[in-house]
Amino acid sequence: MKVLLACLKDFVGLIYPQLCLCCFEDAPAKDNLFCLECDFHLPRTDQFSNPQNDFKERLLGRIDIKYAASYLYNYKSSRVQQMLHALKYQGKKEIANFIGEQLGHAISKNWIDEPPELMIPVPLHTKKQHWRGYNQSEELANGISESTGIPIVSNALQKIMNNDSQTAKSREERLHNVQLSFQSNIHADLTDRHVLLVDDVVTSGATLEACAQLCIKSGAKTISMTTLAMAM
Ligand SMILES: [Zn+2]
Repeated sequence: MKVLLACLKDFVGLIYPQLCLCCFEDAPAKDNLFCLECDFHLPRTDQFSNPQNDFKERLLGRIDIKYAASYLYNYKSSRVQQMLHALKYQGKKEIANFIGEQLGHAISKNWIDEPPELMIPVPLHTKKQHWRGYNQSEELANGISESTGIPIVSNALQKIMNNDSQTAKSREERLHNVQLSFQSNIHADLTDRHVLLVDDVVTSGATLEACAQLCIKSGAKTISMTTLAMAM
């Protein structure tokens, strides 16, 4: 049966060759989702090894954070943006698993004096998750858990409003809206825990800030954050 499946996979691969999930042009490198060229040019941050970094600065004065780090910088019209599009709109959730594992290795290597005890992926609204078939932040957390063993608590937060297109509103209104769009699960007890919030992209930081406030209300003592990419 295994041999038959492998043959079938090879056959499908001949008709639909695997492409790099970043440029969608070249073949991926061995044990990678990206081609050599894309992998080489990915704008990786140095935020894991640099505790006082630009991610933390973005949330300065808003929330107390132990560690914060993104794997990549996301510039407009870049390869990373194409990759994020594939992750969110083309069903390529393996991107999140794959990068999650790299994030996990960076966490294990660098965040050693007070490692996070549990992970909470930023939730999607149930309608959106149903439509997409998965929550990309949870897929990222799965990858991190794979390489660190940190457990995931996926029901600690809920997204109760399906409100992503807020372009016309002011910054204050947007922040207020984000705060209203999440709630914590009354059964989630985070007392004295060090929580790692996981999201696909950090932009203004409003979503992570709102989620962190809810975790603190549920008893969390320490908050850290990680994302696949940081919008520039
Ligand atoms: Zn490529």
